[in-house]
Amino acid sequence: MVLRECDRDGCCYPAARGFGSCMLCSKHWCFKHAEFEDHQCPSEESDPDVYFAAYTVAKKSHLSALLDKINIEALRPVASDARNGVKCWIPAFDANNDPAFRVDLASEQSGGQNCHLDIEFEDGVVWIVLLSFEDPLLPPASAQRHIFLSEVATLKFLAQTSVPIPRVHSYQLEYPDNPVGTSYVLMSKLEGSPLDWNEASPQQRIKVMEQLADIFLELEKYPIWLMGSPIPSDFLDNEIKVGGFVREPWFETPERGLGHFSTLEAAYIAIINWHLQAFDGREIAKLPVDNYLSFKWRVIDWEFASFEAKDLAFSSPCMMWPVEDFYDGKPNLSDDEIEFAWIFNGRDRLDLAGLVLEGRKWQRYLFFLGGGVPSDKTELEALFQCLRKCFGDDDDNISSYEEWKEAALKLYRDDAILDSLIRDERAKA
Ligand SMILES: [Zn+2]
Ligand SMILES: [Zn+2]
Repeated sequence: MVLRECDRDGCCYPAARGFGSCMLCSKHWCFKHAEFEDHQCPSEESDPDVYFAAYTVAKKSHLSALLDKINIEALRPVASDARNGVKCWIPAFDANNDPAFRVDLASEQSGGQNCHLDIEFEDGVVWIVLLSFEDPLLPPASAQRHIFLSEVATLKFLAQTSVPIPRVHSYQLEYPDNPVGTSYVLMSKLEGSPLDWNEASPQQRIKVMEQLADIFLELEKYPIWLMGSPIPSDFLDNEIKVGGFVREPWFETPERGLGHFSTLEAAYIAIINWHLQAFDGREIAKLPVDNYLSFKWRVIDWEFASFEAKDLAFSSPCMMWPVEDFYDGKPNLSDDEIEFAWIFNGRDRLDLAGLVLEGRKWQRYLFFLGGGVPSDKTELEALFQCLRKCFGDDDDNISSYEEWKEAALKLYRDDAILDSLIRDERAKA
């Protein structure tokens, strides 16, 4: 089973994850049909101006279709009932707003997966309704349902802690008996403005880091002994359990994510094996030979150093990473990360300070596994070389990428999957 099939009639390949999905024609193509005459849409590389203009139009039309599904006459009473009958209205759906204005308003309150609309109650309280996007770059509908339920479960889990998060008041998946017409979550609206780390002053950064340290220390009180994503329990609405990972790269099928796992080693081995299988089936198809070799290296050449999931969970958040150095393959820490470690020192938590200082190799590792494979050769080489440096004992003397690749090709010369990937590559050239 794969996440999606290729949309070309009679094609037996899975749609390639990532570049196989097209916002413009809403289709999903395999590694063969995405780039040939079957798929005629302009691409980012061939005609960026035309591509980005068409992309914006297509994205808005998907959002407009989502908003059109909402039965506003059903949503208002659902929200009022959740607040003991206090009347409410949804400004975006004001009768005076034309549909284009509504789409713009929803776009302004959108993230990558969801958009949010304000719900104003007559006593001045404001909630938001969260709606999940349904555009072709997102996973298929059934995978999206798992992601949606996991988001709700995560918020409910955090509600037991003192971490400031919006409270979930009501939610429903899209089903025929859902009168609202689409999946929705009603939640409180938290005051605040989005964090702009790059624009923040040193004092503002320290304030945020102090608050993050509070959150880390609070979450540490709620250890979970399984690795996976939170999902609602089947029986009790407020009980949470740990299910498979509901992250797009780790969905094996639209219904099932990898996991859950009881150790991080087990999780990483399963994730690596799943990637090797996906290269074989051509479901992951960018830089197949280089990516396949780099995953293979991790199975065989890298002896798993044992560590706890805590090492990763309590490492520094990505906004503090020195992004340019990160992509250049340099393993150093940023000033912010050193400051963040000092904050834990100041709270007599040398152990957590150590996790911040030592977290980079695990972030590097996960970065490779969790966000889809690199599709740019220079980026792949820099990231992979840095991973080798992070795990090698002789940081300054590792071989060049090309030398490593030559040796790896020799080492795995009897590997049938590698052989067929190389043949594909030659046929394409
Ligand atoms: Zn297309
Ligand atoms: Zn195809």
